[in-house]
Amino acid sequence: MLPINFLQSLAQLKGFDQPAFEAVHASAEQVTSIRINPQKFNSENSGWEKAGQVPWCNEGYYLTQRPSFTFDPLFHAGAYYVQEASSMFLCAVLQQTVQETKGMKVLDLCAAPGGKTTLLASYFKDGLVVSNEVIKSRANILVENVTKWGSDHVIVTNNDPKSFAALTSYFDVIIVDAPCSGSGMFRKDTQSIVEWSEENVKLCSLRQQRIVADVLPALKEGGVLIYSTCSYSVEEDESILDWLMDEQDLVSCRIAVQDDWRIVETESTRHQAYGYRFWPHRLQGEGFFIAAFVKLGNFKNEYLPSGKLSAATKQEQQFINDFFSLPLHYHLFKQKDFFRVLPQQWLPDIEKISRALYIKKAGIELGSIKGKDIIPSHEFALSLLPKEKLTTVEVSRDEALQYLRKKEIKVEGIKGWVMITYCGLPLGWAKVLPNRMNNYYPSEWRILKD
Ligand code: SAM
Repeated sequence: MLPINFLQSLAQLKGFDQPAFEAVHASAEQVTSIRINPQKFNSENSGWEKAGQVPWCNEGYYLTQRPSFTFDPLFHAGAYYVQEASSMFLCAVLQQTVQETKGMKVLDLCAAPGGKTTLLASYFKDGLVVSNEVIKSRANILVENVTKWGSDHVIVTNNDPKSFAALTSYFDVIIVDAPCSGSGMFRKDTQSIVEWSEENVKLCSLRQQRIVADVLPALKEGGVLIYSTCSYSVEEDESILDWLMDEQDLVSCRIAVQDDWRIVETESTRHQAYGYRFWPHRLQGEGFFIAAFVKLGNFKNEYLPSGKLSAATKQEQQFINDFFSLPLHYHLFKQKDFFRVLPQQWLPDIEKISRALYIKKAGIELGSIKGKDIIPSHEFALSLLPKEKLTTVEVSRDEALQYLRKKEIKVEGIKGWVMITYCGLPLGWAKVLPNRMNNYYPSEWRILKD
């Protein structure tokens, strides 16, 4: 049962239809959607039973039913991300507000578990994406999902929004997918119905104001701010847009939506800022709200002095290159005992960012050197870096699941390091010894269920 005061608070909102809204929550219907990883997707792994395309995102698909993703090796290989369809509208917002992607610096401020970040990583293929999560424990799942997606141009940070003020006028695009009261997820997460209260909506609204105000100095003049929530409450949606326009020099962006998408365009009361509401009784998706702005004003670029990344010695570089055969445009550096690479062009940026923020992951971890051997990292196996020169072993679905449970599988006729692949996609490393195989799948990610 939805709270009465909650339903009353929505009564005047454009697109709200109480009987239809209640009916869609009472029905057991679940909408399942995935967004494919265009850089890992291929004809061998496109076999899901699709119920149609998400209209506002080329890479989004509805599925006819919810399969057990845990038992799909392709899920662990990062071939797709299970994402709620309404939030994929970020694709359409980006297409209409940020056409140029090359060299763009993009911040996803409230990023865990990483749905929007993986979308941004695909959209800004030739840009730099900083994916931040303030809550330490949630930053780990973010690292996991970014690692599986495989991109080399995503940095994961673990900072409070305030820390970004040190990167004044640095980002071209900032996405604030704000923590909210979560009413848009009532159909998927019934626990959030019990936790909903007017008091919490007010607290969320104040927190949202604080978060956006803290991060706005980091947005360039002419840069794009995208604000979203999964709440229906005006206090967290249109009122935040009005508050932003009161406080900051911003212009609201109007996004073209097709009538048959059934998305509702709204305008905030005082500044007529455009917002886009997703109602689950009108379309195939959960409750969602999104708006975009361009920042005006006259800010100077105040860059920080650079921090330095530790370089690898010539001998280490040779050893690493012999094993991994890296393309020339990558910069190799060392972090504790691990060697990492990142595209050369982003080196000065990462050095700047490292002065201001706590970086959890930058570029791709290749591995470490132990005596005369290299211990290759899981992150490299899942990455999109070229791997032609490495030995791979293609396995069946059952063997893949066995591998993902960190159990031994039979590999014959090969010795040494091998990359286990399923449908051509790497799942991770194994070392084949004369009498056994050591499974290097990360313990913390292994499938626990039988
Ligand atoms: N963007 C994510 C995605 O698409 O997968 C979902 C983000 S979720 C709606 C909001 C995130 O904000 C959560 O991960 C939460 O931990 C984080 N958060 C909570 N309090 C915050 C704060 N004060 N400042 C910034 N982020 C916060």
